[in-house]
Amino acid sequence: MQIDQMVCIGCGECIAYCPVKAVKQESGVAEIDFDLCVECGTCKRYAPCPVDAIHESPETDQWPRVLRREFSDPGIAHSTTKGYGRGTEESKTNDVTGRVKPGRVALAMEFGRPGISTRLGELEKMTTALAGAGVHFEEKNPVTFLLADPATGKMREDVKNERVLSAILEIEFNTDQLPRMLSVVEGVEQSLDTVFSLGLYTRLNDDGSIPVLSMLEGLGVPVRPNAKVNMGLGKPLVLD
Ligand code: SF4
Ligand code: SF4
Repeated sequence: MQIDQMVCIGCGECIAYCPVKAVKQESGVAEIDFDLCVECGTCKRYAPCPVDAIHESPETDQWPRVLRREFSDPGIAHSTTKGYGRGTEESKTNDVTGRVKPGRVALAMEFGRPGISTRLGELEKMTTALAGAGVHFEEKNPVTFLLADPATGKMREDVKNERVLSAILEIEFNTDQLPRMLSVVEGVEQSLDTVFSLGLYTRLNDDGSIPVLSMLEGLGVPVRPNAKVNMGLGKPLVLD
C-alpha cells in the first residue's frame, strides 16, 4: 500500500487504522513504511481519508510481495489453497474433513498476530527442526507450498523476507511421537522473533475420551480442552 504524497493533506486520520504501525507522519504528510506494511488493506478500506490518497502500490500484487496480501487481507484468497485468511481450514474442522485420523495428532502453530506480525523466514526455524524429526506437513496449507523441500523444511529463499500479519504451520504425526515433537517445538520457540501459539488436535476415542490427555499430563503440559466444533461446514464423520 502507499500514500500519494502529492495528495495527502497530513490529517493523520489513517494512522490509527494500521495494525502494525506502518503508517508514519514525520514531515507533514503521511507515508507507509514499505517494509513494515503487510498489505492487509485496512487503511484503504476503513480509514476515512478525506482526499482518497491511499492506494495499492505497483508491487502489491507482484510475487513475492503478494504473499503479504494473501496471508494478511481476509478478503483475498490464497492462490495455492484458494482459502481465505491464513488459507487453511485448520484441524478444527476435523469433524467434517477427517484430516487427522485416529491414532494421529496434529499441531497447528501460529506465528505472529495483529500488532506484531512475522517474517515468513521465521517459520523456517521451526520447519527445518520439525522436518528433521520426520513430521508430515499438511498439504492443504499455504505455508507448506512455501517449502522448497519438505524433506529438509527449507523455505524458498525469495519468500523469507516477506512480512505477514500471521501464518499457521500445520504438522501431523503418530500419537506416540507427541513427546518428541513437543520437545522440538519448545526448543525452537524461544528463538522466534515474534509471538507464537500452539494448538493440538486429535480424534476422540470411541468412548469420548481424549487419547493424548494422560500423555500431556505426564509431560507437565497444562490441558484446556476446546470443544469448538465447526458444524455447518459439512456432514460430521461418524466412522473414518
Ligand atoms: S495495508 Fe495494512 S499494514 Fe499496510 S499500511 Fe495499510 S493498514 Fe498498515
Ligand atoms: S487520511 Fe489521507 S490525508 Fe489524512 S494523513 Fe492519511 S493519507 Fe493523508
